[in-house]
Amino acid sequence: MEGNETGQMLKSLQWELNRIQRTVRLTLQSKLQGLVGQSLPTLSENRELANSIQKMLDTHSLRIRCPQCGHASILRVSPRKGMPGGAFVLDHTIDRKRTFHGGSSSVPPIQLTAKPERKAKTTAKTRSQPAAAGEIRSKVG
Ligand SMILES: [Zn+2]
Repeated sequence: MEGNETGQMLKSLQWELNRIQRTVRLTLQSKLQGLVGQSLPTLSENRELANSIQKMLDTHSLRIRCPQCGHASILRVSPRKGMPGGAFVLDHTIDRKRTFHGGSSSVPPIQLTAKPERKAKTTAKTRSQPAAAGEIRSKVG
């Protein structure tokens, strides 16, 4: 009985969190529309812009859906010839290969999507490091 109630509580909590997450995503997405098509004069400024967008998205486990292929991607700015402000690219892994799409001189269309969950069974999150760091023996002849 009690277990069942706990399960129900967790279920409704999860539902509540999903709802909040959705609100966050929609709010961020609508605010970020103000940046689409914008660009700053220098590479470093554009990088900073992309970084701050990306940081915000990371906090909420969000990614930008690549307008070209639909994959969840990370917004970056990379240097490019003839583009003093750099190029806005979408960085993602497709078929295990790191791939860049886009390349516009200004912020590309932003549609947010949930960060994909890691499918590979690498639960390396809680793996602890071997505690060998403490002892360093020095040979003194
Ligand atoms: Zn893409």
